[in-house]
Amino acid sequence: MADGARADVFEELLSRGDLPNISKFIIDKGTFTKAVSVFPSTTGPAYAPFLLGQFPGRCNLPGIRWFDRELYAKRIFSLYRFRSYVGLESLLMNYDISKDSKTLFEIFPSTLNIMNELSRGAALKSYRTRFLRVYHKIKGHFNNRWDEVDIASRDVLLDSLKDNPQFAYIAFLGIDTYSHLNHPFHQSVIESYFRIDESVGILAKTLQDMGRLDETLLIITSDHGLTPTHSHFDSVSFMNRLGFKTFHYPKIFKYYRGADAANMISGNAMTHLYVKSPQGWEKKNTFDELTGFVDSLIERQEVDIVAGLDEKGRVKIKSERGGASAWLDKEGFLRYERFNCDPFGYNGIPSRMDKEEALKYSFNTNYPDALLQIIQLLESPRSGDLVVSAKQGFDLRAKYENPEHCSSHGALFREQILVPLGINIKIKKEFVRTVDLYPTILHLLGKPIPNGADGVSLVG
Ligand SMILES: [Zn+2]
Repeated sequence: MADGARADVFEELLSRGDLPNISKFIIDKGTFTKAVSVFPSTTGPAYAPFLLGQFPGRCNLPGIRWFDRELYAKRIFSLYRFRSYVGLESLLMNYDISKDSKTLFEIFPSTLNIMNELSRGAALKSYRTRFLRVYHKIKGHFNNRWDEVDIASRDVLLDSLKDNPQFAYIAFLGIDTYSHLNHPFHQSVIESYFRIDESVGILAKTLQDMGRLDETLLIITSDHGLTPTHSHFDSVSFMNRLGFKTFHYPKIFKYYRGADAANMISGNAMTHLYVKSPQGWEKKNTFDELTGFVDSLIERQEVDIVAGLDEKGRVKIKSERGGASAWLDKEGFLRYERFNCDPFGYNGIPSRMDKEEALKYSFNTNYPDALLQIIQLLESPRSGDLVVSAKQGFDLRAKYENPEHCSSHGALFREQILVPLGINIKIKKEFVRTVDLYPTILHLLGKPIPNGADGVSLVG
């Protein structure tokens, strides 16, 4: 997992011959393509498609931060009223995901997990960086030596090969962290791509020496891209100026009780907004009931897309371009109804499509797969009344981010939601979602694909 790798940067480096090992041991034997990640395009929720085979809304992991309106209203002392995975609460991620989903760590008998929190089912000995991760994240936060963290991950990987793991998941964090600190094209970021390429080379040569290279499926991909950020919208203060008492991180004790709104940011280019309804927190507001608030958001130069549910549970979407409604009908077809102009600027997208058609028609637009991604996210009971996606160049958090985010992700637009995919087998499918890799891995390793997987195998 080349966390934060952009599809276009990866492709450019590949075409220049700057990723020689990835070319030799993966792409030349298989396929390079681009895949659509998920909304929110942020680590944690965007790992769920790979590890659980489900969209984040469907395994109830709607963001890096979320708020449970019912528990907030009902219970004072519960660990599940709200969450931020930035910090120690990340240790609760495995308890937050829905029990119906099965992780690849639960399916395969011997596994290896490196620098990834979404690890339910990973045995103690297979999650080699369970504590090292906290140490490295704290150290990296202060000395910005994420290169050392990625090399430490490489060393753990190489040392673990003797245990013959059947499934191994390694997250390299340098691209994402150096992009946040600088920008996605900075030298330190590009060197992080090179370092991953080196790791792939050493891994492949080691597997070759062990005589196991040809029987090993190698996948290199990402969970999101990043874009440079020149301005931060203080969306919390904006809500407070509108009169809300807004619950938000890190000030969780300010409105431990008594908040009438919440703002839970991911990436930081996306946020979930929750508003207490006149009937109390238990009842979710419809999009139309919040129309004034929606319009005041759309008027903001930083805000791109706002979406919520109508009284029928259908998604309503609005941007300064236009408005529309989208839903999945009983036959599982995606229905799309524009009220005036298309909110995404889509041109000629049909009003009734199956999920693969929805991907095909939107893949080469500025908002690949946005319809299904918004629909899946708003299925989570922990999602906001409204979900907001920022415009390129902006994010939605102006305070408490130290160091400052010079690049962001989490949003719906192409540069943040499209990721590279390299795999050492030929794949047939033309348009790919990251959620397709879960059934593909199970298929190729001869395991049954659990019901409820959101993806389709790339090898038919
Ligand atoms: Zn990030």
